[in-house]
Amino acid sequence: MKLFTTQWLTAVFPDYKGAAHKSIEVAEVSTDSRKKTNHSLFIPLVGENFDGHHYMKEAFNQGAVAALWQNKKELPAFLPADFPVFFVEDTLSALQDLAIAYREKVNPAVIGVTGSNGKTTTKDLIASIVGSSLKTHHTIGNLNNQIGVPITILSMPPDTEALVVEMGMNHFGEIETLSNIAKPDYAVITNIGESHIEYLGSREGIAKAKLEITKGMNKDGHLLIDGDEALLRQVHQRRHVITCGFDPGNDVYIKNVNLFTNRTQFELSDGEVYTIPLLGSHHALNAAFAVIIAKLLDVAKDKVKQGLAALKQTSMRFELLSGKNGSSIINDAYNASPTSMKASINVVKQLEGFRQKVLVLGDIFELGEQSKSLHQSVADSIDDSADAVFSLGDDAGDITSIVEKRYQTIDCRHFASKEELSAALEEYVSKDTLILFKASRGMQFESLVKQVIDPS
Ligand code: ATP
Ligand code: MG
Repeated sequence: MKLFTTQWLTAVFPDYKGAAHKSIEVAEVSTDSRKKTNHSLFIPLVGENFDGHHYMKEAFNQGAVAALWQNKKELPAFLPADFPVFFVEDTLSALQDLAIAYREKVNPAVIGVTGSNGKTTTKDLIASIVGSSLKTHHTIGNLNNQIGVPITILSMPPDTEALVVEMGMNHFGEIETLSNIAKPDYAVITNIGESHIEYLGSREGIAKAKLEITKGMNKDGHLLIDGDEALLRQVHQRRHVITCGFDPGNDVYIKNVNLFTNRTQFELSDGEVYTIPLLGSHHALNAAFAVIIAKLLDVAKDKVKQGLAALKQTSMRFELLSGKNGSSIINDAYNASPTSMKASINVVKQLEGFRQKVLVLGDIFELGEQSKSLHQSVADSIDDSADAVFSLGDDAGDITSIVEKRYQTIDCRHFASKEELSAALEEYVSKDTLILFKASRGMQFESLVKQVIDPS
């Protein structure tokens, strides 16, 4: 695969040395000198604790055929005189500028996805459907920040027709930057939760930050929003806003949601019935966004249904696994926010056919001053359909202590260590028991999951 040539790069970065005029083909862009590459352009980024410029030799040995270089930094002596080097003010900005130039060159239809929860899932659903009709490239995994978005763009094949980009953020201004890089023709705001409220102050602040996704869109772009969210419904100044949700007042609404052990079925207001291999009505909303995008891109109805059914999920997001002794495990340990924890608990409530249900909940990070109250709010989603609630972490203990007061029948316990929690869980790992694991990434609940899954 050829992305571009060094000749083409001279137009983007006019200050260069080496044999740029000879036009060398670049097949990939790399910021990681540890990775073996094929004909790559090495972009040395400068972080708080590292400086990629120190790793030019490694990058060269791994297959770099050209590099960007921050002005004034000394070039290593080993580099051959004809090795193309493009001088820039700042390598991160240059990575972003390069992504913009390459996106313009390839010119795919761009679909940007942001929101507090469900970005990765919605992105994967859109890619799964649209990929059946158009040559589609999408964010791999969760590469959704100021480095991940440009890297996503710079890894798309030159014949890409549709590009699905996940956009994440912690602070104001970040989604605006990403939107200006990706310039979405279609944008989705899946929902407004409480994630990163520590930096954004309030849910209003979060909504405002997500709405920055419109900054890079042209006037004809379509914006899809969670229409059940009042904070988003106010955006009527845009021409093409499509609201989607469960309320029949939405432009597209979801009804008749049915959960089965490994799939969710739902109907959209157009009367069509869809099935997704994911559990929970919140995923019906994510899928509805994907269906709307597919329709706007003229994907045939049968392909939409096939695409949804064929979804390949990014792992650790509500994965249903076989546990030891005939138990069932839900590994949702990838990450957590108050909204997504409540959503997962609600799905567990609705799942039928289990003798007992256990919720293993850990701390949710980055909630700032509201951390305690937001953890406490999770308790409201728990009812006596749960048999045991176990917690670990500084604030998650509030969930168990509230639930304990409300329901004497539930075995509520807070643990000081994973070892103690794991030992107590042994009592419950038995036939027809469903165990949910949910916590922020940093709690590393996957080690708990590992203890209870069936090794065979
Ligand atoms: P991240 O910020 O980590 O990138 P994300 O926005 O990409 O998260 P996903 O990885 O798709 O989100 O899903 C994360 C969790 O959020 C999942 O556990 C899922 O159960 C829950 N979730 C997904 N969609 C929604 C939704 N629309 N509303 C509430 N919770 C949701
Ligand atoms: Mg994600």
